[in-house]
Amino acid sequence: MTLSERDTLSLRVTILAPTGKDAALTAAALSEAAIESLICPDIACVERAIEEGAGILLVAEEAIATGELRALAAVLSRQQPWSDLPVLLLTRYGADSSTVIKALQTLGNVTLLERPARPATLVSAVRTALKARERQYQVRAHLAEQERTNAALEESESRLRAIVHQAMAGIAQCDLEGRFLLVNRRFCEIVGYSREELLKLRHQDLTHPLDQERNASEFFRHLAEQSGYVIEKRYVRKDGSEVWVRNSVAVLCDAEGKSQSMVAVVIDVTESKRAEERVRFQAHLLDAVGQAAIATDPDGKIIYWNHYAETLYGWTGAEALGRSIVEVVADRTMKEQAVEIMSLLRAGQSWSGEFLVRHRSGRTFPAFVTDTPIFDSEGCLQAIIGVSTDITERKRVEEALRDADRRKDEFLATLAHELRNPLAPIRNSLHILRLSSGIDPATERVCEMMERQVGHLVRLVDDLMEVSRITRGQVELRTEPVELAAVLRSAVEASRPLIEASGHQLAISLPAEPLIINGDPVRLSQVFANLLNNAAKYMDEGGQIWLGAKQQDDTVLVSVRDTGIGIPAEMLPHIFKMFIQVDRSTRQAQGGLGIGLTLVRTLVEMHGGQVEARSLGVDQGSEFVVRLPLSKEASVSGRNTLDARAPVLPNHRVLVVDDNRDAAESLGLLLKLLGAEVRVVNDGPSALEILPSYRATVVLLDIGMPGMDGYEVARRIREQPESRDLMLIALTGWGQEEDRRRTSQAGFDHHLIKPADMTALKSLFMSLHSR
Ligand code: ADP
Repeated sequence: MTLSERDTLSLRVTILAPTGKDAALTAAALSEAAIESLICPDIACVERAIEEGAGILLVAEEAIATGELRALAAVLSRQQPWSDLPVLLLTRYGADSSTVIKALQTLGNVTLLERPARPATLVSAVRTALKARERQYQVRAHLAEQERTNAALEESESRLRAIVHQAMAGIAQCDLEGRFLLVNRRFCEIVGYSREELLKLRHQDLTHPLDQERNASEFFRHLAEQSGYVIEKRYVRKDGSEVWVRNSVAVLCDAEGKSQSMVAVVIDVTESKRAEERVRFQAHLLDAVGQAAIATDPDGKIIYWNHYAETLYGWTGAEALGRSIVEVVADRTMKEQAVEIMSLLRAGQSWSGEFLVRHRSGRTFPAFVTDTPIFDSEGCLQAIIGVSTDITERKRVEEALRDADRRKDEFLATLAHELRNPLAPIRNSLHILRLSSGIDPATERVCEMMERQVGHLVRLVDDLMEVSRITRGQVELRTEPVELAAVLRSAVEASRPLIEASGHQLAISLPAEPLIINGDPVRLSQVFANLLNNAAKYMDEGGQIWLGAKQQDDTVLVSVRDTGIGIPAEMLPHIFKMFIQVDRSTRQAQGGLGIGLTLVRTLVEMHGGQVEARSLGVDQGSEFVVRLPLSKEASVSGRNTLDARAPVLPNHRVLVVDDNRDAAESLGLLLKLLGAEVRVVNDGPSALEILPSYRATVVLLDIGMPGMDGYEVARRIREQPESRDLMLIALTGWGQEEDRRRTSQAGFDHHLIKPADMTALKSLFMSLHSR
């Protein structure tokens, strides 16, 4: 039998009586006393009544013959544990009847009431039984309450268990010796052990050996103080790997306040530890580099200042942080530029360059600075990172290098000049030998050989002069419309001795129509002579050279091709650089200084053209192709070309002034052989002295002389009225533009470089003739 909630408090009296008359009387008596009742004719009715809720059961003895008693006992036995329905048994024969005895044995909570009972007795007995029933109801209510409490408790406990189990953080509970009592799923994941394994371990067993001492002392100290704490430490996972955790540990106490266990919330912080490590590493790195690394906010306030910045600027990080970068670092004179740079950076551009900065002591120095703006994901300027290096030393070295380079150029110029001086008399003497009649064939050959070698020496010296001109950007062009064929002819003439001496064949193919170029004929012929000389030099004897030109649109292509030693592919991009030579060991006897091609390129580019080197490799020959723009002009003005062996120079009174006696004398002899009247002196004062009486038409005057130099002599000559019209020619080793300017200022008409080129000299004499 189950007791439904609804009727648990029912105090209705269920009456089981076979005869309606007795039952009705009893009910009436109860009703009189305001006690509700229900009359049941049989056990089935009683069972239903009890189900609906019964206060007590009133049974007449005759209603429970043997069969009914068993059925009734069965009904009553199905009560809830708290319920013991009071049964009032109305007996006719007292307690001695066998029915009553059986009823007392089987029904339990039975009270006997003998009949006929007076109504008051009946009511009193019923009330007593109902009281007892009410107490049972109280017990039942209490039990129900307890049951509800238990259910609620159980529910919250299981919720807690679920929370603990599913928590994203690891949770572990340990007893006072550190043995695990409880671990959740996440904790198992963090340490890589199963729950069962962990429940056999202590937290110290998992702790990294290096952290064990600290771990144990913290644990026992806080346990004694009953205080919570946070500890960062490493666990060694089951697989041996390390995991960094941050544990928030609390002490759990019982009702009396005695420590019972420790609970830790465990968070895996390995990633953030690694990030921290990385940040620390980067900070160390920034400190280790020999550059100041500084970060500022968008307003220029310093937010990061590395170790090297302290050394470079003299401010410690603590002093610099929060201050304006311009105030701390920039020199006063740089403030305007700093503002400009700042606006560039705000616009998202980086800036790098030289910047004058200041040490705390006030000392300024040049720094190379790179500033980079950093923007956040919304595109707002977040910070500016500036890296600066002290370049005082670099600037010093650069200046020293420039200085050394200047000195080298000066040295080369001086060397070239000094080399020219001895060359002049040698070349003159050779000319004299050739001009004097009756030399035997052997001497003739020796002369030729010496001329070739002197020519080569002159070329080398010229190259030396060119080096300093190219490096100073002082190469000048005297452009005029020139015919390419004439330029190439002159180049071939210059190179022919070398080509022939090496037994090479030269094939020339030029277009029939004239090709006009706006250029410097001397320089252009130098370009092609250089290329032809190289072809001859870098080829075994008996090779083939092709010189070709053709028009292509409004340009002309000139090619110099040979069957020589070729150029390795890796050298092709470098071949035009100054002093580059492919392989010194294979250089020919007539090797140069490695500046010929540099000069070629410089000159070609100055003419608005390009030059290119081609070769299929070693021993595959080489080809140099020069492209030059054609001139719009249709023709060239005819010029007088002079032959070195042209007629003599009659009617000339020449004064040669040179402190180099050999040079002066040999030139004098040469001019005499050419038919001129010649006087030679070796210093300026002698020249000035002799001139008024000698009445020279031409004075060839050296510049660098002790005592009075050529400039001074020239000025004084021009001061003499009788010497105003004579032709004053400077003959000097100095051939720079600057030197030419100075000679012209001093009153010279012409400037020739030693050793004097006979053709040039003669043409000057001729021009005087026609004057
Ligand atoms: P130099 O001839 O005085 O050494 P250049 O500037 O004229 O200097 O040439 C540079 C180098 O280029 C030469 O040393 C040589 O190695 C290489 N070179 C120039 N022309 C040729 C060529 N026609 N064939 C092979 N190698 C060449």
